[in-house]
Amino acid sequence: MSAVYFDPFPGNRGDELGNFNKAYRKHAHRGSDWGAKKAIENKPIKAITTGRVKKVFWSDVLGHCLVQGSADGFNWLYAHLAVKPLHEVGSMLVGGTTVVGMVGGGSKTKSGSASTGAHLHMAGCATADGVDCHLVAFEKLVDVHAHIDANKAA
Ligand SMILES: [Zn+2]
Repeated sequence: MSAVYFDPFPGNRGDELGNFNKAYRKHAHRGSDWGAKKAIENKPIKAITTGRVKKVFWSDVLGHCLVQGSADGFNWLYAHLAVKPLHEVGSMLVGGTTVVGMVGGGSKTKSGSASTGAHLHMAGCATADGVDCHLVAFEKLVDVHAHIDANKAA
């Protein structure tokens, strides 16, 4: 099945920081960011596609996190959310419409040790590789920005 994708909010992609870059700050950057250089703390994050919530969890590194499935066979991680997401596992999120959570990781909304300022960190992997996109091998990760662009809503 195919799926239509949206940016979680307009602009603010953090490509200049080396998104999805294996040599990012000595460690691989395991995903794609939004929010570099812009004050976006507590900005609403909309679902990038339609699909059900697979997991809601806290990580000391990634803060408040939510994982969403998609009809085209992927799991998508939203990390550094400002507060624990209100969605429960199994809830349907509508792409471009449902607010997944608010941007966290800034001074007012500390959310995980890997955050150096308010931003949205996302990672994606094929459903077959599991719900924990943040743990799969780098080679198996999907470039979230590229996937959105390749399947953008008209
Ligand atoms: Zn990131």
